[in-house]
Amino acid sequence: MNDASRSLGDRAQAMIDALATITAEPGKLTRLYLTGEHREAARLVGEWMRRAGMSVRMDAAGTMHGLLPAGREGPDSRRRLLIGSHIDTVVDAGRYDGTLGVIAGILAVEELRDRAVPLPFAIEILAFGDEEGVRFPKTLIGSSTVSGALGDAMLELTDETGVTIRDALLKFGGDPDALADEAYVRGTVLGYLEVHIEQGPVLDQAGQPLGVVSAIASQGRYRLSIKGEAGHAGTVPMQTRHDALVAAAQVILAIEEVAMKHARASCVATVGEIKAMPGTSNVIPGLVEFSLDLRASTDDARSAAASEIRRRIRDVGVRRGVLVGMETMHEKPVATCAPRLKRAVSLAIERVTGSRPLELMSGAGHDGQAMVNLTDIGMMFVRCRAGISHNPLESVEREDMDLAIRALVATIEVIADEHSGADR
Ligand SMILES: [Zn+2]
Repeated sequence: MNDASRSLGDRAQAMIDALATITAEPGKLTRLYLTGEHREAARLVGEWMRRAGMSVRMDAAGTMHGLLPAGREGPDSRRRLLIGSHIDTVVDAGRYDGTLGVIAGILAVEELRDRAVPLPFAIEILAFGDEEGVRFPKTLIGSSTVSGALGDAMLELTDETGVTIRDALLKFGGDPDALADEAYVRGTVLGYLEVHIEQGPVLDQAGQPLGVVSAIASQGRYRLSIKGEAGHAGTVPMQTRHDALVAAAQVILAIEEVAMKHARASCVATVGEIKAMPGTSNVIPGLVEFSLDLRASTDDARSAAASEIRRRIRDVGVRRGVLVGMETMHEKPVATCAPRLKRAVSLAIERVTGSRPLELMSGAGHDGQAMVNLTDIGMMFVRCRAGISHNPLESVEREDMDLAIRALVATIEVIADEHSGADR
């Protein structure tokens, strides 16, 4: 290997560029779970893990695991610190989302190995295959498998072409019947760390390369419906109409108001999908269905905002004589970062950048939401240009990646110091 003279940031960029060439569509980056592209990316990541001195295996869900054993005997030498992120992408994706976290982990291991610092615990790098949930109507399959949070009844879910997760796993070389056996036992792990691009503008606007994550937002998805009365656009007088779309417009404005009122809890609400029926220019809409994505920094704030929205919808229903409904599709509780890992990440960032990092909530979902079922989680955010993500324009400075990898190494050292105290 003659990489020694290149900076960690340059090396990370070269690896990210190599992964970005593995795609389903030339000229675009699209790499979905359990596809040929995923297999090719997993193979390359496995090769890098091996080169960094790790023993490598693929688990039943297609996650790549690279293990660096502890450097010395002690009370924690059989336990492992997990570091991971994902190698799947959205359609027409950016190249840093997920992959940066996997590559940062691999380069951090290489760095520690080259420094010949004997660690009191093992480190395991995880490259998950399904964080984005694009191919199947399910997310976090890899991290839910490792954390034992997968649940049943997902193997028969299908992609757009009718392929089940079971069949896709078999074709990939995974094992649908062994998923439950992959769950780690709580006492064997020391925590889960993830480096990820922020995917938002806060660090960029603050002029800071790195931040420490406080929590991954509490999230709810809801399906709303308003049933009014369809009618002739030319003959029904305005005063007697029960226009479902006008009612929906009022509800959407109320949703915005509620989210803004809960801004202190980082509440954000989005209506991103709407369908008006019958959907004809000369018919008063009789039925409207729309989605609501609601997130906040605490479960209480999210459920308070949801209750308030329910109340506001009911008011609109009464005032306009329309039938309203709000159905919960799914709710994910907040995943709070453990104070000890937050402290370690924070201290490490301060060591490499010279200043105290900002603390941010993650509005986006991450593998940590599944891993928190197994162990303490900690996350570091890296600045991305203008906060643009899930977009080919996604961009991260090499210098920032360099700092991120050095801060990850420093985080591992801080945690190692804590665990050395337990040695005799
Ligand atoms: Zn991601």
